[in-house]
Amino acid sequence: MRKLEQLYEGKAKKVFRTDDPKKLIVDYKDDATAFNGVKKGQIVGKGVVNNTMSNILFQMLETKGVPTHFVEQLSDRETVVKAVEIVPLEVIVRNVSAGSFAKRYGVEEGIEFDRPSFETSYKNDDLGDPLMCESHALALKIVTEEQLETIKKYALIINDTLKEFFLEKGLKLIDFKIEFGLYDGEIILADEISPDTCRLWDVETNEKMDKDRFRRDLGNVEETYAEVLRRVKGN
Ligand code: UDP
Repeated sequence: MRKLEQLYEGKAKKVFRTDDPKKLIVDYKDDATAFNGVKKGQIVGKGVVNNTMSNILFQMLETKGVPTHFVEQLSDRETVVKAVEIVPLEVIVRNVSAGSFAKRYGVEEGIEFDRPSFETSYKNDDLGDPLMCESHALALKIVTEEQLETIKKYALIINDTLKEFFLEKGLKLIDFKIEFGLYDGEIILADEISPDTCRLWDVETNEKMDKDRFRRDLGNVEETYAEVLRRVKGN
């Protein structure tokens, strides 16, 4: 399968058409943005880390009953995926308070929840991805009730699976964002799961091992992304 013309360039990936109308090729970049595009930079090697890590995790999730867009990794940065219609909701699952949750409620980071929280934001850069409650997503026909139930079911399986997996690698899964798409009318997991989209803290030291190193200028950004991939690959 080969790349035809570029369809889209996002903040972290380029998307290309292929000769199969139901398949696309994504090409992961090293560009990094934060705070809705206000902070811009590069994390050298990030594209390779995010591509490889997402593909490992997506294949694992398939075995747990979560359908995903993954088809085939072509190179360090390129993967063939199913062409989905993205559901414009950012689905966020949290196990521990951090980031916008801590800010919104004026609480510290690091409060462990008895059960995971689930929230959705409306995926719209112009509006700054506002938090969107379920009834608003239904009112605007962004999803049907059935699709929302499926998304919740998958989100919890993904959380259980990833929490256990990362713990074996010495990483605590604090929170993460996922996106879903429609393929042949069915909800499937799309986009990526990477240090850009998860918060991961080292089990021993609580050190942040994710994009917060870039967002908050904590240093060792590239080294941390490489270390997370090393642990995920188990070598
Ligand atoms: N997240 C993401 N993309 C976004 C917003 C959040 O991947 O546009 C991820 C983020 O990396 C974290 C989780 O979703 O793992 C929860 O993020 P939060 O709502 O706390 O927002 P943030 O503090 O990143 O603004």
